[in-house]
Amino acid sequence: MSERSTERLRHVLREHWGYDDFRPHQLEAMTAVLSQQDSVVVLPTGGGKSLCYQVPAVVLDGLAVVVSPLISLMKDQVDALRESGIAAAAVNSSQPPEERRRVADDIRAGRLKLLYVAPERLCTERMLDFLTDCPVSFFAIDEAHCISAWGHDFRPEYRLLGQLRERFPNVGVHAYTATATEHVRDDIAAQLCHQNPQVIVGSFDRPNLIYRVLRRKSVFTQVCDVLDQHRDEAGIIYCISRREVDALTADLKESGYRAAAYHAGLTDVDRHRHQEAFLKEKVDIVVATVAFGMGIDKPNVRFVIHTSAPKSIENYQQETGRAGRDGLTSECWLFYGPGDFITWQKMQDDLTGVAAERMLQNLREIEQYCQAVTCRHAALVKYFGQPYEQDNCGACDACSNELELVPDALITGQKILSCVVRVQENYGADYVAQVLTGSQDQRIRENGHDKLTTYGLLKEHRKAAVREWIEQLAGQGYLMRLGDYRVLKVTPTGRQLLKGEVIPRLLQAGKAKAKTSIRTASSMTGVDVGLFDHLRKLRRQLAEARGVPPFVVFGDVTLQELARVRPANVTAFREIHGVGDHKCAEYGQTFVDAIGEYCQQPGPICDQSGDIKSTP
Ligand code: ADP
Ligand code: ZN
Repeated sequence: MSERSTERLRHVLREHWGYDDFRPHQLEAMTAVLSQQDSVVVLPTGGGKSLCYQVPAVVLDGLAVVVSPLISLMKDQVDALRESGIAAAAVNSSQPPEERRRVADDIRAGRLKLLYVAPERLCTERMLDFLTDCPVSFFAIDEAHCISAWGHDFRPEYRLLGQLRERFPNVGVHAYTATATEHVRDDIAAQLCHQNPQVIVGSFDRPNLIYRVLRRKSVFTQVCDVLDQHRDEAGIIYCISRREVDALTADLKESGYRAAAYHAGLTDVDRHRHQEAFLKEKVDIVVATVAFGMGIDKPNVRFVIHTSAPKSIENYQQETGRAGRDGLTSECWLFYGPGDFITWQKMQDDLTGVAAERMLQNLREIEQYCQAVTCRHAALVKYFGQPYEQDNCGACDACSNELELVPDALITGQKILSCVVRVQENYGADYVAQVLTGSQDQRIRENGHDKLTTYGLLKEHRKAAVREWIEQLAGQGYLMRLGDYRVLKVTPTGRQLLKGEVIPRLLQAGKAKAKTSIRTASSMTGVDVGLFDHLRKLRRQLAEARGVPPFVVFGDVTLQELARVRPANVTAFREIHGVGDHKCAEYGQTFVDAIGEYCQQPGPICDQSGDIKSTP
């Protein structure tokens, strides 16, 4: 790609978005668009996929057609583009005919740079005919995994897009997704009839997310502890069932939190209302089943909580992925109990054959993830087939020593495994824990297991603790469970453990260090928190007046920088990250005035670093 094209892209990025640099792979993806080579772009959520086609759409002559699965997604994107001074529109069935006609007129007159449309509408004869006569610069397929039956969001109408390649032989077709599996990726290219596509795959790691996994105790207290660290911030809480969603939402509201429920049992109207309330900051928290997610591109979700284990690692990645799209530090808390995996199994007991096997495999994998005591970032990235180079991510419970480990884990592990062997690998976890803690249970005596050398070997511990260790050993692959009775067997790695060749890591049962100190809100360094809150309120008012979500006006990154730098005039305001020409003209003076007024208020004053110094 010529230097000039790169400069042109960079110029548009600055002028309209106020960003100085490309994120990883963005330039590569944009270059594929400019050179008309079909592409499949896989970047994690928050990787900045939209800009990969929006920036070239501005640079190129003609109209870029963007395929998007949901009206709400289209609307937010179109609003955001217009706020950045870019001519964009959507056509969909919810619009009155005269509005659709206006869009058609704008296209004919060459006034639009981007058109958002659902696949089933794009692929009508009428629409395709209409576009054949237009100077289409390229097609961008958002959420492209929807085209694959292997993906988690298959939408048959996406299959219609296969005809684009033939109908528009000279126009590039570009696909964008966050879905990490190779199978889906290949399927996307095949279904779109790509010829020799450029495949661009970014790292699936989300370094700004902090992962923590804890045993569920009193879940309401655990949830509230997290919420209290995130006052006035946005977050999503995932539960397994609708019933749990409703109950938790009610309890939270009762305790004064601003929460709304979201699940498939609500009416369309209620679901939409609750989602809107979340996007527009009328509530802070959405409590939801897995039904909630697609169509949420709110960038400032600061935490995602799972009150139970998710149903697969892929789901976990998707669901936690909704946190921190704007790149700011965000937290992912997972509270699980051993029963969660059985609950999921029961909920999916209609599956048969390969699908059933796959489901069980998914549950085993997520169970192992929960039990693991090694780096979460590494585990997730490796799961998706990528290497992880760092020794310590600095952003998970395992790397930050939040996990309280049993000091003599090898010996404890050996005691447990030898007990499993002594009972002929014929009993489940509960029974083995009873034998190890020296239970007087009649069944044990009848079986003669009170005579075993391993009987009472861990009698100084509670049975519940031993049970947890058994689960942890299973999670780390030293034990497995077989059959309906979930009978424990020692695996080959378990045999190595018995010989002392490998050392397990066992968590102190029932303990988690109370307060933790992984780099939380490091992005707030130097930020005048009071001013930040003040600007958030202003942003909300401006957004409300325009009928758009607040993040469309400015992102949190921009507000933080404003509250750190405190620009005193519009020229300085334009230099702030995320401020382009259009937004500067639109909002510059309003924000500069608000900052000026705030700084003149009596109250704590700040020095240049933003640290509070003294009260005048
Ligand atoms: P994705 O669709 O991959 O999840 P988005 O396109 O929604 O990601 O981008 C996530 C956030 O990152 C948005 O707020 C976007 O404005 C911001 N962003 C994208 N590219 C850049 C960049 N080059 N510099 C700074 N911020 C960016
Ligand atoms: Zn880690």
